[in-house]
Amino acid sequence: MNSFSTRVLNWFDEHGRKHLPWQQAISAYRVWVSEIMLQQTQVTTVIPYFERFMARFPTVIELAEAPQDDVLHLWTGLGYYARARNLHKAAQQIATQYNGEFPPTLDEVVALPGIGRSTAGAILSIACGQSHPILDGNVKRVLARYYAVEGWPGKRQVEEQLWQYATQNTPDNRTNHYTQAMMDLGAMICTRSKPACDRCPLQSDCIAYAQGNQTDYPGKKPKKTLPVKSTVMWIPFYQGSVLLRQRPATGIWGGLWSFIESQDVDTVPKDVAQFIGSDFDAQLLTPFRHTFSHYHLDIQPKLLHCESLSAVIAEAGHSWVSLHKPLQLGVPTPVKRLLTDLTKQL
Ligand code: SF4
Repeated sequence: MNSFSTRVLNWFDEHGRKHLPWQQAISAYRVWVSEIMLQQTQVTTVIPYFERFMARFPTVIELAEAPQDDVLHLWTGLGYYARARNLHKAAQQIATQYNGEFPPTLDEVVALPGIGRSTAGAILSIACGQSHPILDGNVKRVLARYYAVEGWPGKRQVEEQLWQYATQNTPDNRTNHYTQAMMDLGAMICTRSKPACDRCPLQSDCIAYAQGNQTDYPGKKPKKTLPVKSTVMWIPFYQGSVLLRQRPATGIWGGLWSFIESQDVDTVPKDVAQFIGSDFDAQLLTPFRHTFSHYHLDIQPKLLHCESLSAVIAEAGHSWVSLHKPLQLGVPTPVKRLLTDLTKQL
């Protein structure tokens, strides 16, 4: 073991996190689900989602056999729904191609939908004791500071340099603890804005610490302003229920249930008009912005208090959802927010 990993492991023995839900009854399945949930999401947010997910899908087979709606429903609020769809698809591949056993090699794991090299390395090291480096956001930050690696890690050259450092420091033994330790070090000590260098086992030879410019690393992504798009969300409301429609399987919010949208706030779109009677009161609700990684979406919700419905109440892919019963469908975050507000008001 080199002194980098020895120090990291000693620190882990004393201070690392050992009581997270996915660190109990460790299995590749549990570690995999937690790693996917933890991408872009804080540990404290993930814990209740993870526990609900495991209660509903205790094994990869149960996940594989579940309807996609059930999986997306348990993901509601976590965002980045492609993660849930890929998790479901990968579970189905594991069930059919590997008899429900998680594949044992890095190449096989990386070939599953939604699992990159770092996540595959984390699963196989934590759950199976194999020695593979990882390079998630936390580890990138620690290594970029320790070695003073210039540049934005989204650039290939910078990322390759970081992988090289990650690989050379990953020990052959206790890789499970080392992997967890590096993630913990990034999350608890070498934090984004105020690293606790005085409590860091790497302080003595950390270059960024010596230079006093820790927060210059890792380099920032070159800024670009996000484009703004807008939409009108139509909310037909009748006897305590609102109409939702399932979105196409691919694209933004793929497979989730959402309000019917249009661009023109003054005209009820045909897709909505076909289900409701001609007698309704329209009400503009407070507009709000939802931001995706690549654009802002300005949402104007419009509520239609309907006196009656048309003869065709709904058709396939549409559902009248009661505001007063627990939601059973997967919905995007802004729709969830509107449903919650409406439940309080109506
Ligand atoms: S000394 Fe500070 S900047 Fe360097 S790795 Fe440790 S916490 Fe991060």
